[in-house]
Amino acid sequence: MTVSLKSTREVELMRAAGQIVAEVHELLRERVAPGVTTGELNRIAHEHIISSGAYPAFLGYSGFPASICTSVNEQIVHGIPGDRVLYEGDIVSIDVGAIYERYYGDAARTLPVGEVAPEVSRLISATERSFWAGVNYATPEYRLGDVAAAIQECAEGCGFDVVRAYVGHGIGREMHEAPQVPNFGEPGTGRKLRPGMTLAIEPMLNIGGSDTRELEDGWTVVTASGGYSANYENTVLIRDGEPEVLTMLAHAVV
Ligand code: MG
Repeated sequence: MTVSLKSTREVELMRAAGQIVAEVHELLRERVAPGVTTGELNRIAHEHIISSGAYPAFLGYSGFPASICTSVNEQIVHGIPGDRVLYEGDIVSIDVGAIYERYYGDAARTLPVGEVAPEVSRLISATERSFWAGVNYATPEYRLGDVAAAIQECAEGCGFDVVRAYVGHGIGREMHEAPQVPNFGEPGTGRKLRPGMTLAIEPMLNIGGSDTRELEDGWTVVTASGGYSANYENTVLIRDGEPEVLTMLAHAVV
């Protein structure tokens, strides 16, 4: 499948979409606390995205009923926000997508609710570290397998398991474009990275095994073991030299 290489103008629009996504994450980081419901987080995100002149990318996507995904504890991805109250010791993975002038931004963070168990805290930080380990290889000198292998090595080196059934993806005029971006693989394999590619790199790490299961709601994906799961995702622009992370405030450069 063809991978689209974005023009300068397209990158500008993706930066704008990414900035809105980053702002939503900043807002939600301040609001996640014991007692808040996932539906409240959804409302805050929805209002910010709309007031920014964008549209929530997940709302109505294949029939998804909310503007963000909120996946709590053993839920990995695609959790539906609603009446669920967050309690001290929970973790919540928040996935936010925005469409701005037809271009997409997509990013996820896992946040602790109050104090969490030490192993769970390590899970969250290992997931973020795995993302950055992969981004180190997100340059035109490397291949997708180098990114994937670096993520896997970092995650497993920390004692956690990488989800295999769900992967990152190209992104641009569609939320999911070619290529798939797995979080496991062999160095030196796969598609060569090229300037102008935009990828959603999103390690998902579990405690207690890689296996997953989908709940009866047809959306929520959980760990088969019941162990907690964390997710860290950004939309990343490949370019000559260092990559640009489009979904962090101030367009942070790695
Ligand atoms: Mg994604």
